Amino acid sequence: MRPTTTRLAPSPTGALHLGNARTFLINYLMARREGWRVLMRVEDLDGPRVKAHATEEMLTDLAWLGLCWDEPIIYQSQRADDYRRSLEHLIDIGAAYPCTCSRKDIETAASAPHAEDATGAYPGTCRGRYESAEQAAAESGRPVAWRVRVTAEPIVVADRFCGPTTFDLSRAGGDFVIFKNDGAAAYQLAVVVDDAAAGVDAVVRGNDLLDSAARQIHLRRLLGVGPEPAYWHLPLVTGPDGRRLAKRHGDTRLAAYRQRGVTPQRILGLLGAMSGIIPPPAGEASLDDLLDRFDLAALSANSTVLTADHTASLSP
Ligand code: GLU
Repeated sequence: MRPTTTRLAPSPTGALHLGNARTFLINYLMARREGWRVLMRVEDLDGPRVKAHATEEMLTDLAWLGLCWDEPIIYQSQRADDYRRSLEHLIDIGAAYPCTCSRKDIETAASAPHAEDATGAYPGTCRGRYESAEQAAAESGRPVAWRVRVTAEPIVVADRFCGPTTFDLSRAGGDFVIFKNDGAAAYQLAVVVDDAAAGVDAVVRGNDLLDSAARQIHLRRLLGVGPEPAYWHLPLVTGPDGRRLAKRHGDTRLAAYRQRGVTPQRILGLLGAMSGIIPPPAGEASLDDLLDRFDLAALSANSTVLTADHTASLSP
């Protein structure tokens, strides 16, 4: 039997910090504990936001922590043909349509006094409006994106960490973009096509993507790519203000610690203590120490706060 397959899927739109490193670490510990195959997929599709050198630096950071993965690395920027084929399939079955709405058009429609749908979902302006992308471009004079139709039929994400969660995509965002108007595949489609192509059947990631799982299940069904993967959406790391970890909370980039001479064992010790794997205070830990003691049930269901004491434990 083929082993369970998971993937680490960093986006090189910024540097790896303690928050995203924590999610990758837990994904990795789960995989090693259970004997899963680990793939590396670089999500470098978002052209304007992808930063030069970020890919290399992220891979270096993860390897520095001791994480390893199967070769070859998958780069989304090299998989345009597969995404295009899936788009064509969705067009052929009548599930996708061209859209020329600008962000402003969508905001205006949603805030109209008699807008029927006050959920902030895409109002469906371009649904059934054009026969083809060519017609959409000619009539609007704008670049064309593609959206997929959603229905009000509830989609249950049987999440193994958060529990089952039900989404009505017609209210949660509505028809969503699967190809952007710059001609690149959008995140939701690329993830589904890649996960299916690589046989990924265990997805572990931040719980900010829980609603994306519902969109991805919807796309999987339309594309007929087999059963959905098992999902674990994990709590995010926040700063003391409760907001998702970011620059405003100080420099928590792994690369910055590395350059300052902090050892990977201290980072692992801190992440392990923050995740209930080893008792506080945070000291040093090796990946093997964490593997020995790892228990996903010890991870708090609430977001994990990175405190000043935590970061102080990493000062030289
Ligand atoms: N690239 C995404 C991120 O870094 C993860 C996408 C996924 O796991 O599906 O947040």
